[in-house]
Amino acid sequence: MERLDHFMARANAAYYATHDPFADFTTAPEISQAFGEVLGAWAAVVWQSMGRPDPVILAEAGPGRGTLMADALRAVGRVAPEFRAAVRVHLVETSPRLRAIQAAAVPDAAWHDSLDDLPDGPTILLANEFLDALPIRQLVRRDTRWLERFIDDGQFIEQPADLDDLSLSRWRERVDGIHELRDPALAAALGHRLASQGGAALFLDYGPAASGPGDSLQALRDGKPTDALADPGKADLTAHVDFAAFGRDSEVSIHGPVPQGVFLTRLGQFQRIDRLARTRPWREASAMIESGRRLAEPDRMGALFKAMALTQPGLPTPPGFEA
Ligand code: SAH
Repeated sequence: MERLDHFMARANAAYYATHDPFADFTTAPEISQAFGEVLGAWAAVVWQSMGRPDPVILAEAGPGRGTLMADALRAVGRVAPEFRAAVRVHLVETSPRLRAIQAAAVPDAAWHDSLDDLPDGPTILLANEFLDALPIRQLVRRDTRWLERFIDDGQFIEQPADLDDLSLSRWRERVDGIHELRDPALAAALGHRLASQGGAALFLDYGPAASGPGDSLQALRDGKPTDALADPGKADLTAHVDFAAFGRDSEVSIHGPVPQGVFLTRLGQFQRIDRLARTRPWREASAMIESGRRLAEPDRMGALFKAMALTQPGLPTPPGFEA
């Protein structure tokens, strides 16, 4: 018998170590180069507002194929060469397989297993579809009782929950249903780091704007939904990010969440794509415009995906999060 978060951590570590996740799903940086480019420009503006620290750590958590970082660095080299010169690239990645692919795209990076291993110093962190892969617990409230979901022999079983362990009395007021919870330690440690050493972190991921009950655990195998419990390590397991809960008790300022479509439009994604498209043959140009729309339109990736930033206290509102 294994608690769901332990099961999910084990399954995903095996999955990412042995599979090409991009055979099962695609992500925003793989859809449009403009995505990484505007995030690079975002980081350059935040660096200005931090007082242009040199050196500065530009980190990414869960960099996949390294596409986002490669696109960001290329754009920054062009539009903000002083920032580019100050940047030290650090990638947080557990999969040796993906590290090798990232090294081809971002040769001058340093790699770490965990955000806790980043060297000290002012930091700008980017993370796209990273939080959704981190393990969740599922607590079940039924008729005033709290239970927790464990896995035994490929099936969920419910055990009485140890609420003291969660130290969250607010759980007790909640309504019947499944309540998902991620370990708050990551946001707490990151918040402490940003508050004491300076910097900002930008997370893009999918999840609702407000917390609420529901089972969002999903598994993709060979590009298709599958049973999350059947074959650990063979499918990619993810769950919605609870943005309203993320970073709530940390020492930093929180910006957002805003819908990804709003965020990318404010950062000038469409202007960037227009400029790129102008010089291409029309088929390629229209495919580029279509890719930008896929990321931003509300009935596609523009609304379910959200952007949220944590910043050192006192930093001005970062681009894209203006009221
Ligand atoms: N950001 C990329 C990839 C998203 S897939 C993109 O947008 O294309 C999730 C990524 O997070 C993969 O690179 C995976 O190996 C990594 N990852 C998953 N769990 C992790 C963990 N606990 N620590 C570090 N990296 C992790």
